[in-house]
Amino acid sequence: MNELRQVTERRRVRVTGTVQGVGFRPFVFRQAVALGLAGFVLNDSSGVLIEVEGERAEVAELCRLVREAPPPLARVTSVDWSAVPPVGISDGFRIVDSAAGQAPNVAVSVDSATCDDCLAEVDDPADRRHGYPFTNCTNCGPRYTIVLSVPYDRPATTMASFEMCTECQAEYDNPANRRFHAQPNACASCGPSITFFDRDRRLLSDGDKTLDTVAEALRAGRIVAVKGIGGYHLAADATCDDAVAELRRRKARDDKPFALMVADLKMARSLCVLDPAAESALGSFRRPIVLARRRAGAVVADGVAPGMPDLGVMLPYTPLHHLLLKSVARPLIMSSGNQSDDPIAHTDEDAFDRLGSMVDAVLAHDRQIHIRCDDSVVRASGRRLQMVRRSRGYAPEALPLPHCAARQVLAVGAGLKNTVSVAKESFLVCSHHIGDLEHLATYQAFLQATVHLCRLFGIEPEVVAHDLHPEYLSTKHALELDIEPWPVQHHHAHVASCLAEHGHAGPVLGIAFDGLGYGTDGTMWGGEFLVADFSGFERVAHLRPVPLPGGTAAIREPWRMALAWTALAAGPDAAARLGAALDPRWPSVLPLAVADATRRQSVLTTSVGRLFDAVAALVGLRSQITYEGQAAIELEMLARAVPQEAAPRYPAELLNASSAALATSPANASSAALAASPALAASPARAASPDGLDVLDPSPLIATVLAELDRGTDRSVIAAGFHEGLGRAAAALGARLARRHGLDTVALSGGVFQNVRFSDIVEDALVAEGLTVLVHESVPPNDGGISVGQAAIAALGTRPP
Ligand SMILES: [Zn+2]
Ligand SMILES: [Zn+2]
Ligand SMILES: [Zn+2]
Repeated sequence: MNELRQVTERRRVRVTGTVQGVGFRPFVFRQAVALGLAGFVLNDSSGVLIEVEGERAEVAELCRLVREAPPPLARVTSVDWSAVPPVGISDGFRIVDSAAGQAPNVAVSVDSATCDDCLAEVDDPADRRHGYPFTNCTNCGPRYTIVLSVPYDRPATTMASFEMCTECQAEYDNPANRRFHAQPNACASCGPSITFFDRDRRLLSDGDKTLDTVAEALRAGRIVAVKGIGGYHLAADATCDDAVAELRRRKARDDKPFALMVADLKMARSLCVLDPAAESALGSFRRPIVLARRRAGAVVADGVAPGMPDLGVMLPYTPLHHLLLKSVARPLIMSSGNQSDDPIAHTDEDAFDRLGSMVDAVLAHDRQIHIRCDDSVVRASGRRLQMVRRSRGYAPEALPLPHCAARQVLAVGAGLKNTVSVAKESFLVCSHHIGDLEHLATYQAFLQATVHLCRLFGIEPEVVAHDLHPEYLSTKHALELDIEPWPVQHHHAHVASCLAEHGHAGPVLGIAFDGLGYGTDGTMWGGEFLVADFSGFERVAHLRPVPLPGGTAAIREPWRMALAWTALAAGPDAAARLGAALDPRWPSVLPLAVADATRRQSVLTTSVGRLFDAVAALVGLRSQITYEGQAAIELEMLARAVPQEAAPRYPAELLNASSAALATSPANASSAALAASPALAASPARAASPDGLDVLDPSPLIATVLAELDRGTDRSVIAAGFHEGLGRAAAALGARLARRHGLDTVALSGGVFQNVRFSDIVEDALVAEGLTVLVHESVPPNDGGISVGQAAIAALGTRPP
């Protein structure tokens, strides 16, 4: 009979993570009541605190449910409990109001796609929310984009102006209801509503049939601005060639692919080849755009993604989208509501001002968007999902810091693909995608985001981490603040972002390949091998430096890089012949493209991104680009026509091939001066390269590419051979350096590793050498991850000597 004897126990349970604004307290309440337990649950500055009393087995069961089966939007980081003296169970279980005035320290949750329960209500003609485009509950709906400040409560959101009707209020007040304390709770009689205007703001429709009217306009080939959760989209019928061409013309967008929204998974499958990981990302509450291989015969206009084998698709994530897609009954282009690289329009004024000339009509609503938030983009690579743009549905979810922050940090990121991050205690938060700061409106969005993120997470920055590039507007802003600046080298930040994502303290061998980042020697780095941890780095090898002919012009015009690499690999005469074939301006550019230590006319670069550009221009893909990274992306797509097993084995022995390159490189002198952590200083490796750095010299590979072009070899074969040769060479050098420095782990970062084919080659070759390889998944390898690395480095607080 002993085992039936009841043992009463009371526990104080601390839950941390994203546990506020996600229905956590009502969840605990319902479970506790069902288990017959007494006590209370409350939100405080550290998360959720529960005291629970009852029979030991039931108390333990509640703790298990909290840990293992929390509400869908919750992200539980830890559940710790201690026993406290029982006080009796006569009061039952209560939800206690939040203590006001405490410093906010809890994660604001992400904007989340409509849940199945809400969708069922929207679809049910008998439900009072039938057809209501703003239906939500504690398990779904807008969060980050409507929060003005914390604590997260209705008056602190853009829902403050809507007074709940009696029925909604009753749901909101009932702990047993799915909408208990659902801050954006609303219905057709009390909540936001939609309005359809023409481009001159004349009313077209605002009744029950509004969405059908919008759908009709779209099916007729019109372009409509549609207000969503994080901003406006430009919507058009993706199956209509004329509509797509017209959208390209109005948006002044030449080639960059448009994203698609489709009604359901079935339609997504009809357009793209989706593996299980891609399907689960598509259907998740985060609802990113998923880039996946286009299916032969996919029914969308060619202009959606000209010449690209991939399509970007997403599923509806608000009831408005669900209703609209159902009514249109065909795939829609849902492109960010902006022109070129401006920030996405998120206020109605802005939409009419900036989008008016691009659209025929505007579908607006009266729930304000406080913070704009673009759609996130992930790429289904087969091996893993890769984050390309981390924004709606992911931001502002906290990432754990691998170390405890010594101080509160603001990190302002890079210049392109900008994000900002904050860090304190044991967590780091990265903002939504902000974009290219050279655009005034984007810069203003950047300023707003830094202030907002600090306010939401209660950060009073003691240091501001920034890039070394003196011309980045983010750097300039950091130096204007009255906060201690914390400079972080660009590629060190890349490697640190990869370490932070994997919770790895380092040191590792970091391979950072990207476009351009400011080096400690004033040249433009981008093909770097760093021994690094959060406290410092040592540059131990790099790509052979070449001139960047014309500076930033070389970014837009890959043919300039083709000239520089051809001059190095095959001599100025070969470069002149190539120039004559590629661009009439070649005679004035050639002198800039030839490395000449006595007459330095161009800044030098070790960029691997620019090397990919050069090869793309050599094989005739393109001499000019219309969006960032275009040439390299197209080179990867070209290579995909050749299965990896069939790729030619172009030379991969590219190490230290030219001592002349070393002589012309000013990079040598800098390595010894670079910061190195105590851990690095203690490694046996430092003494091993007294004569200068190792150099990865791809000129034999370029020579092979030129020879194969002369022989008329298929250019997809050449592209594949280049990927193989460079990837295996980089891995061979990486493995050699790792061994020399006593390291067993290699981290791959930088925008070049968005190239999945190249990333896989390098990873496989390193793994074959017995090394552990860290590859990005949840943080983008591109400059969208820079602020994450900066924040993690500055949070550790070890200043380089
Ligand atoms: Zn819901
Ligand atoms: Zn209502
Ligand atoms: Zn970069």
